[in-house]
Amino acid sequence: MALLIETGLTGWISDLEIAQEIRKRIPDADVRTPDTIGEASDITMLALVGLQADHPSRLPNLKLVQKLGAGVETIVGNPNLPDHVRITRLKPDAPAQGIAEWFLAYILRQHRHIGFYEDAQKRAEWSPKAPGSTPDTVVGVLGLGHIGARTANMLRAVGFQVMGWSRSPKSLDGVNCVHGDDALPGLLSQCDHVCAILPSTPQTVGLFGERALSMMKPGSQLLNAGRGDLIDEIALISALDRGVPGHAVLDVTSQEPLPASSPLWTHPSVTITPHISGWHLGDALSDVAENFQRLSSGAPLLHEVDRARGY
Ligand code: NDP
Repeated sequence: MALLIETGLTGWISDLEIAQEIRKRIPDADVRTPDTIGEASDITMLALVGLQADHPSRLPNLKLVQKLGAGVETIVGNPNLPDHVRITRLKPDAPAQGIAEWFLAYILRQHRHIGFYEDAQKRAEWSPKAPGSTPDTVVGVLGLGHIGARTANMLRAVGFQVMGWSRSPKSLDGVNCVHGDDALPGLLSQCDHVCAILPSTPQTVGLFGERALSMMKPGSQLLNAGRGDLIDEIALISALDRGVPGHAVLDVTSQEPLPASSPLWTHPSVTITPHISGWHLGDALSDVAENFQRLSSGAPLLHEVDRARGY
């Protein structure tokens, strides 16, 4: 049984560094990288960021795909992945904290008019403007899972009124939790800021089209750190031109990297960050090592994905 690390990424942690981290935790583990792959039929577990079309055929004895992150849509949606191959993801604290901070930072940016004062300073202009009132500001969090629940709790602790939305009923202290498609319009119509941290599934792709966008409060802010395909970007630009919502902050876009030709870059009501909201992996590699051991011993896996549900 061997574990293959194959992220195909540069500029992040390398395959070799990940393999070394796993070996620190399980010194006798058979951990390989594309350079040391050896006999492909030995590979039972594959740790990756995105599944390649030929992975299932290249690795005939694959039993587990471990996503080195959270979003599993490219793995779940791969028609070549045999049904018996299981999928696990990571749920580390560090990126959840980072994403919650990203939401908070961009909410406070608008709430405290930070961009306005930066511009005013360039003109040496002394222009007082009333900040938002925190207890009167309603923030919605779409998705109350590992990251969304943390975001909702952080925003509540700061003093905002927080509403949360999920597929199934949830209960979070001090958060007005609603669930199901019928509850979304009511939430959108009340929120000054809407933070989306949803997985990409057939139910969420394109959810923010013309209809949902028009249900938002005029002048409100839409922030998305889940997946770019949640939002119909053409509909978003028209909606922003009408001021409903008033601003969008996007850490994820339908195409990444966002092409230089995208009108989102230059739209005055759009702020882009390059998929950096959840940067740090924290101690997540311990769970990869743990899953390799659990796969070998037949124990229940950590953070297994429900392939039918899609997340
Ligand atoms: P979880 O699986 O823990 O939570 C997902 C949440 O979304 C759950 O509360 C779930 O509801 C809810 N949800 C799913 N489908 C629907 C639906 N149709 N209607 C309403 N609610 C729905 O995921 P995480 O919180 O860990 O991560 C969420 C997503 O964030 C990931 O899938 C990934 O795409 C993205 N992500 C982005 C990162 C970045 O750097 N920008 C980094 C990490 C993740 P229920 O509780 O009822 O199941």
